[in-house]
Amino acid sequence: MRFRPLIASVLLIGLLGCGRGGGDAEARPAEAVRPAFDGQAALEAVRAQVAFGPRVPGTAAHRAAGDWLVAQLRASADTVVVQAWTHRTAGGVSLPMRNILARFRPTAAERVLYVAHWDSRPHADAVGSVQPTAPVPGANDGGSGVAILLEVARQLRGAPPAIGVDLLLVDGEDYGDFDTDTDVLIGSRYFAEHLPAPGYAPLFGVLWDMVGDSLPVFEQEANSVRGAPEVVQRVWATAQRLGHGAAFTNRAGLSITDDHVPLLSKGLRVIDVIDLDYPWHHTIDDTVDKVSARTLQLVGEVAMAVLRELER
Ligand SMILES: [Zn+2]
Repeated sequence: MRFRPLIASVLLIGLLGCGRGGGDAEARPAEAVRPAFDGQAALEAVRAQVAFGPRVPGTAAHRAAGDWLVAQLRASADTVVVQAWTHRTAGGVSLPMRNILARFRPTAAERVLYVAHWDSRPHADAVGSVQPTAPVPGANDGGSGVAILLEVARQLRGAPPAIGVDLLLVDGEDYGDFDTDTDVLIGSRYFAEHLPAPGYAPLFGVLWDMVGDSLPVFEQEANSVRGAPEVVQRVWATAQRLGHGAAFTNRAGLSITDDHVPLLSKGLRVIDVIDLDYPWHHTIDDTVDKVSARTLQLVGEVAMAVLRELER
């Protein structure tokens, strides 16, 4: 993921500011019933991923973690589709890639797509990083979003959805260089070009990225607001109904280059739920102790409620 603190986003803040009612505390509707979700189990799923070691494409840890994720999802979903291919990098390296798509009610026409990236970054090259050539453990960057999807899958196994649900783990999001747009978003780009069915068109989708920080603040990411404003509206309204309006703030956020961008370009209405305010981003300190079960609980409740509300 890469954000762009440019004039465009400042402009957007200005535009969105007009006509908006004010702070989060204002006009909060009666709290909705909280859907079942186990934040502690999600935290264990972060721990399990990190225990494989950094999930850097081309490494044994990446292969083993991918096998584990497939097995976990096969135990929950109606069907799991693995897209496997080889990505040749700009530097000429061949990388084995896998997107993992867990499907509930795979023939249902009305469906929702949830996305997270399961790879972790090969280099902890954040500005000021003490070990810029070491790999990123990826507890929050990658691990947290995957954990949300694994726990959503477990909940849906217990209480199957009335609608179709697709949980997509994409590979190779964080491999290369965002500045030059080289070897990044590899899996989401592949998925956009290899949709699971002709005319595949979920009602909407949500990318969950960096969703485990102990102080969650999700601003409304600018590409999402521009590309699928009704989905932003839906997810934030659900969060606020659940009483999670402090985390899901109505503030306009930056433009972020993330896995939702290739999907939006393909015409899928996918937004990005992301917390940029994470001091350990792309450092060796993106470790499990930085991830909070309480935050995962909050985000997971929103993810589940968005699905359950469609069933009514
Ligand atoms: Zn990253």
